[in-house]
Amino acid sequence: MTYAPPRFDDRVPVRVNLYSDTQTKPSLAMKQAMMEAEVGDEQHGADPTVWALCDRMAALLGKEAAMFLPSGTMCNEVAILTQCRAGDEILAHHTAHIATAEGGAPWALAGVQVSSLNGDRGVFSADTLAATVRPVSRYSPAQRMVEVEQTANLGGGAIWPLATLNEVAATAHAHGMVTHMDGARLMNAVVAAGVPAAEMAAGFDTVWLDFTKGLGAPLGAVLAGSAEFIDAAWRWKQRLGGSLRQGGICAAACLYALDHNVDRLADDHDNARVLARSLAQIEGLSLELPETNLVFFDTRGVGLTAQELATRVRAAGVLISVMGQYRARACTHLDVTTPQVMEAASAIRDVVLG
Ligand SMILES: *Cc1c(COP(=O)(O)O)cnc(C)c1O
Repeated sequence: MTYAPPRFDDRVPVRVNLYSDTQTKPSLAMKQAMMEAEVGDEQHGADPTVWALCDRMAALLGKEAAMFLPSGTMCNEVAILTQCRAGDEILAHHTAHIATAEGGAPWALAGVQVSSLNGDRGVFSADTLAATVRPVSRYSPAQRMVEVEQTANLGGGAIWPLATLNEVAATAHAHGMVTHMDGARLMNAVVAAGVPAAEMAAGFDTVWLDFTKGLGAPLGAVLAGSAEFIDAAWRWKQRLGGSLRQGGICAAACLYALDHNVDRLADDHDNARVLARSLAQIEGLSLELPETNLVFFDTRGVGLTAQELATRVRAAGVLISVMGQYRARACTHLDVTTPQVMEAASAIRDVVLG
C-alpha cells in the first residue's frame, strides 16, 4: 500500500487555526526582509546572512558557536548523532519529541535508545534522573545524554523552572553525561518566565531554537554549543543533506523574527489564558492550566473522543489538534487574535452542548 499523506477537509474555510504555531505564515514585512537578504553559498561557508544569524544566536543562547539547519528535528538528530554512538542511551521524559515525534530517528539513524523518565507535565526532577542512572557496567548501554524540552510540548507547554534545569544538568554532568535542550519553544519560556535564554541554557552543552513555531518564519532552526561541537556537527549536517546554498533568504526571516516576534509571544500566552478560561466553563471539559501558548484539554467528560470533537469543530471552521484519544490541543500564535480565540471557544461550546 502506498502512503497517502493526510489531506485536510477544505470545503469549510478555516476561520480560526489553533492547530499549531507551525502554521503561522510569514508576514509581508518578513517576506520583504527575505527579499532583500544578502546571500552566498551557505554550504561553502559564504552566506553573510546565515553567519549573522548564527553569531546572534550563539550570543543569545550563551554558547561559543551556532549552526543553521532546516528544522528543529534536524537540530535534535544532529546533536544526537554528533555526541552519541550506536548502543548508547539517552535519558528523556517519556513524552519527549525525540521519542514520540521524530519517526524513531534516534533509534533508526543514531542507533541509540531513548529511555522514558516520568514527571509532571513533561518535567522530571534531578532525583528522578539520579534514580535512573545505572552503575557503569559491561552489561548496560552507556548512558550518554540527558535531554529536556523547554517548553515541554506534550507536557502542556509547561516551563522547566530554572532551578530544576540547573539541578538536572548538574546531575547529568556529575555522571559523565552530556546535556541537550530541545528549545523548540524556548522563547515562549523566556518571555513567560522572564529568564534570559542564555541562563536557561547555561547547564546544557547543546541547545536549539525553532523559528517555525511562534516566531513565524517559514523554515529554519539554530543549534548552538561549543565551537568544537559545532565543528563536528558540520559533518552530520552535510551527511543528512542539511547544508544549504542561499540559506540567507531563510536566515533573514529568522533575524526578522528575533527583532519583531519575540516580545509579542506574551500576547499568545494571554490568548491561551483567555481560551482556557472560556473552555473551563464548559461542563465536562477538563482543562490543563496553560503556562505558555499551548492549551490541552480532556474531552472524556463530554462523551466525545478528541478526534470527534476536532472533526465537529472543524465543520465550524475551527482547527484544533488531537494529541490522544481524549486529549485535544489548541495552540495560540501570531495569526490568531483574541476575538478569534473567543470564537473558537464558543464553537467548541456549541459542539459540546449540541
Ligand atoms: C516542533 C518540535 C520539534 C521539531 O521541530 P521541527 O522544526 O518541526 O522539525 C522538536 N521538539 C519539539 C518540542 C517541538 O515542539
